[in-house]
Amino acid sequence: MKQELLKVTDLHISFKAKGEPVRAVTGVTFSVSKGETLGIVGESGAGKSVLGLSLMGLLPENTAYIPGGSIEFDGTDLLKLNKKQIRAFRGDRISMIFQDPMTSLNPVMTVGDQIIEALRYHNKEHLSKREMEQRVDEVMELVGIPAHRKKEYPHQFSGGMRQRVVIAIALVCNPELLIADEPTTALDVTIQAQVLAIIRQLQKQLGTSMVLITHDLGIVAKMCDRVAIMYAGEMVEQGTIEDILTGDFHHPYTLGLLGSIPNLEEDTDRLKPIPGLMPPPNALPEGCRFHPRCAHCMEICKHKAPEQHYEHDGHYVACHLFAKEGQRDE
Ligand code: SF4
Repeated sequence: MKQELLKVTDLHISFKAKGEPVRAVTGVTFSVSKGETLGIVGESGAGKSVLGLSLMGLLPENTAYIPGGSIEFDGTDLLKLNKKQIRAFRGDRISMIFQDPMTSLNPVMTVGDQIIEALRYHNKEHLSKREMEQRVDEVMELVGIPAHRKKEYPHQFSGGMRQRVVIAIALVCNPELLIADEPTTALDVTIQAQVLAIIRQLQKQLGTSMVLITHDLGIVAKMCDRVAIMYAGEMVEQGTIEDILTGDFHHPYTLGLLGSIPNLEEDTDRLKPIPGLMPPPNALPEGCRFHPRCAHCMEICKHKAPEQHYEHDGHYVACHLFAKEGQRDE
């Protein structure tokens, strides 16, 4: 039986604003098992990155707050920890790869020093200086950077190589959970494929669980075991990769995302972008948040938010189309 590593339950994240607080994430529930990769997918502004930061305890302190929910990691609710306790988890047991390697790296430190710094901060194995140096060499080789380049600075590396350094920093402490937020968006397409292949290979090799945040269902298809679709701060569908890509039951937003994936073997004229725009978190519509863009919108959708309906084998859809007999109040 799969062992649960991360369990997020009914999580809400809001931002302070003049007037009403702005709800960035509303009632999100999901879990990640040991060794599993969960893709969190949605358009920009869906709340994916805010959710990723909350898992790392990195939400901006002055503006963001969590009105409810829990984030349990290996049985510990991270939301109940103080700053010092959460720092002990961050980098050591949970690591993050951000979108832009240039903003994650220190431009005036050699890449070797930056990797060793991450190791020294935790050093749970009480490694000597020499052993730490060896570990840095190993992790650089693992991500495909010759160890002799550890004395170079970030500006001496290409974009793809810089992202490999970021991956090395994230993995040097052998974390149990890796959160990767659009890890290849800043890279060109050929380099994207190489970096994704490295992440996938290392993750399998080290047995790391991963939450992969992306707007790209194509990337999810290659990397993930399960998928959660986010729209306007809510999770609207969750299922295995097979369920989401080839299954019969889909939330209309998921269908829209599937219809907007480019397929080089097919006529790209048939691509159908989802009409309209995602509402900003300070102007969410009543009822189903997707209703102004939904081709299947019914009267009930305009005033009643749908609940999550269980389909089969862990597949959940939050849409009135899937309500059982008698659950709709039309
Ligand atoms: Fe469309 Fe209604 Fe389903 Fe929302 S609840 S996705 S508006 S059919």
